[in-house]
Parts: sequence; structure tokens; C-alpha cells
Amino acid sequence: STSASSSSIKQVKLDKESELRIEVANDTSLRLRLLNGTAEIFGTELPPQIWLTFPPRLKFAVFTWHGATIEMDGTTETDYTADETPMISYVNVHAVLDGRRNRAKASSSDESKSSQGPRVIVVGPTDSGKSTLSRMLLSWAAKQGWKPTFVDLDIGQGSITIPGCIAATPIEMPIDPVEGIPLEMPLVYFYGHTTPSNNVELYKVLVKELAGMLERQFTGNAESQAAGMVINTMGWIEGVGYDLLLHAIHTLKANVVLVLGQEKLCSMLKDVLKNGPKVDVVKLQRSGGVVSRNAKVRQKSRSYRIREYFYGLVNDLSPHSNIANFSDLFVYRVGGGPQAPRSALPIGAEPAADPTRIVPVNISLDLHHSVLAVSFAKEPDEIISSNVAGFIYITDIDMLRKKITYLAPSAGELPSKYLIVGSLTWLET
Ligand code: ADP
Repeated sequence: STSASSSSIKQVKLDKESELRIEVANDTSLRLRLLNGTAEIFGTELPPQIWLTFPPRLKFAVFTWHGATIEMDGTTETDYTADETPMISYVNVHAVLDGRRNRAKASSSDESKSSQGPRVIVVGPTDSGKSTLSRMLLSWAAKQGWKPTFVDLDIGQGSITIPGCIAATPIEMPIDPVEGIPLEMPLVYFYGHTTPSNNVELYKVLVKELAGMLERQFTGNAESQAAGMVINTMGWIEGVGYDLLLHAIHTLKANVVLVLGQEKLCSMLKDVLKNGPKVDVVKLQRSGGVVSRNAKVRQKSRSYRIREYFYGLVNDLSPHSNIANFSDLFVYRVGGGPQAPRSALPIGAEPAADPTRIVPVNISLDLHHSVLAVSFAKEPDEIISSNVAGFIYITDIDMLRKKITYLAPSAGELPSKYLIVGSLTWLET
């Protein structure tokens, strides 16, 4: 039963193996607590009795294995209970992965060399529940004391940092249903665009850099190697998108591929992966609770994500506005060939582009409202192979005085003077 736009306090009794699906209202938050029984949100258990506050627009489900009563206070866009979910099949996957982690751990304590736990990659079209399944697998693993590495290759709607990036971070605790993944020191590479078609080659190069860095970090860390990885991917599964999936599977040496609700993709992957190193390709049902988002909603959620980086989820951070001279900052763009715009070329001519060339960018009004990454590179030619420290947002450019005003997470000098620009922009609202 769907109850649209309900308000005030109400109690919902959930039978075993069912879930309460909620879309929080657009402009108010929702309070919710577990009155009795046990329940979890995307793999993370709810504490008994304690009120939790969910921000506007959040879409989630409270699932119970054994039955629970939930109390809600506030407005929702929708809330309804569902007793048909794919959760049993998901938790069965978790059990298999857990077995592999245990075997990896056991064999690494026998020998001097450490062994690899499962490297799981979650694939499927947009809005099939990839991020959500990744999150459940990570939280269930963390609950059992593993520290799996979360790798997020989704440059459109990443869950580790702002859009336009690929990133990785160890997950040491079940993921907080409200706060999401803590932003402390993830390993981030800046691609600078929200679709891979802007520069497919660069995307591949960055996935390779990230994979190489993770490989180095795993060496000598038997614990994280046994825990393995959970890799979330983009929803682009056709044509170049499919090639990029295969590239990610090979580059990150995934040995379990979970395909969400796509018969065709599943059989294609089974077929193409049967000849290489052993990879298990498993088809899983998508949840009926996954909410589809149109292009506008996606764009909005990208914008909220950037806002959250600077201001925090509930305006709890205070970013700092800084002013620098043009001569203090060195801005680079990757690829794109010559700086001449397409409009300056003869009709039909393509600008000759080396997709991974580092091109210095003159500071101009074009940078207004851009989100730039602050590279850890020490020299310009290290920019592609370096991860990034964080991001700044250009709020003003004074061409006359040659001064640039930008928002940064904190005051003081930037960790590096090398900045990367792509096509990522943000309109502060
Ligand atoms: P994908 O990563 O494949 O694009 P997501 O996992 O991000 O898809 O899911 C899309 C949206 O649906 C998210 O806002 C997510 O929180 C929501 N969602 C997923 N599963 C459920 C569910 N069972 N009930 C309610 N909302 C859900």
C-alpha cells in the first residue's frame, strides 16, 4: 500500500524479510527510529530506540530479517512496505564472499605471502541498485570485522567524493545510513567530467593509476588483501561503456562480477570472460525499491554532492573564501589538444588531441564557477599519475587586478599549486 505525502508520527510494523521503502520529502527532513525488533538500512543495523534524522530527498529502505516496528516522524514523498525483495540472494552472495575472505586469511597466515580475497565488481544499467548493493556488501563485511576496499568508478554519481572522480577507500565500519562514507583521506583521481565519453582514454589511464596504487598498498597488508574489494561502476553498459567495464574488470583483477538485472550483459560477460583467469559472473535480481532518476534529478544530485563537499551534509562545515594572484596558481587541463576552440577551426576539422597531454590553461573568465582539483603532483608531468588532495571552487575572477577568488574546504595555503580543470562546474545555490 502506497501512502503519498503522509505527515506526523506513525508506527509501521514490518514482518520478517520485508522492508519499508521511503522517499523523504523535498524540503523537510524525516525522523525515524527502531521501536522493537531488529532492522538495517542498506546493510547497517539500526540502533534500538534512537531517533535518526534523514535529510530531504534521501531514498532508502529499512529492511528486517526477523521483524521490527519502526516509528516515523515527519513528511515523506512516499513510504510503503514491500515483502518481495532480493535481499536473501544478496546476503547469500555475502556469505560466499565471506568464505573466500576466510580462506584467503587462513592461507596467508600459513605462508609468508598474503593471498587475495574476493574482488567483486557490481555492474548493470543506471538505477539498477549498484551503489546500494555495493554498500550492503561493504557494510555486512565490515560488521564481521573485515576492512574491504571500496572502489568507486562511477564519475556520474560517486559515493566517495564529488562527481567527476574515481576513488577508493577502506571501509572499516558499517556505512552510516545518513552520513554515508566518511570523507577522510580517500584515494581520489580527478577525471574532471561526468561522462566518460569526454575523454575515454584518460578514464582508462586513471583506472590504471588507481589500480596500481591499490596494488602497492595491498602489498604487505595481508588484512586488506584478504578482505578484498567491492567495485561500483557506471551505468553505461553499451558500446564504449561495455569496453570500459571489461577494462575495469581486467585492470582491477576482479574475480567476481555481479550483474544486476541484465540478462544480455550477463551472458556477454560470461562469454568473454570464460577464457581468461577464473572470474565468476553472477546474475542478481534488481530490487523493486530502486528509484529511477531522470537526467535533471541526476544533475541536481551532482550539485548537492559538490555542495556537501564544501558545506557539509547539514551546513556543518565552513569553507573558506581565499584570494590569489593569477601568478600563484598553475591550472592545467588534460587532453583536449590545442587550446583553440572548435569554432576557430575550419568547418569539419577536429582539433588534434592527445587525450593525456597536459595543457597549461590561462586564467580567464571561462574558469568562473569551475570546480578544480588540487593535485598532489610535484611537477606538471606528474599530474595524471598523481591523486588529488581536494577541490576548490572559483567564485570570482578579476581580470583587471589579476586576482582569483575561490572557495576551499579550509583557510591557508593549498597543498599544491597545481590545479586541474575539466568540465565540472557548479552553481552555488
Ligand atoms: P545505481 O547505483 O545502479 O544507479 P542506486 O543504488 O544509486 O542505483 O539506487 C538508486 C536510488 O534508489 C538511490 O537513491 C537508492 O538509495 C534508492 N534505493 C535503492 N534500493 C532501494 C530500496 N530497496 N528502497 C528504496 N530506495 C532504494
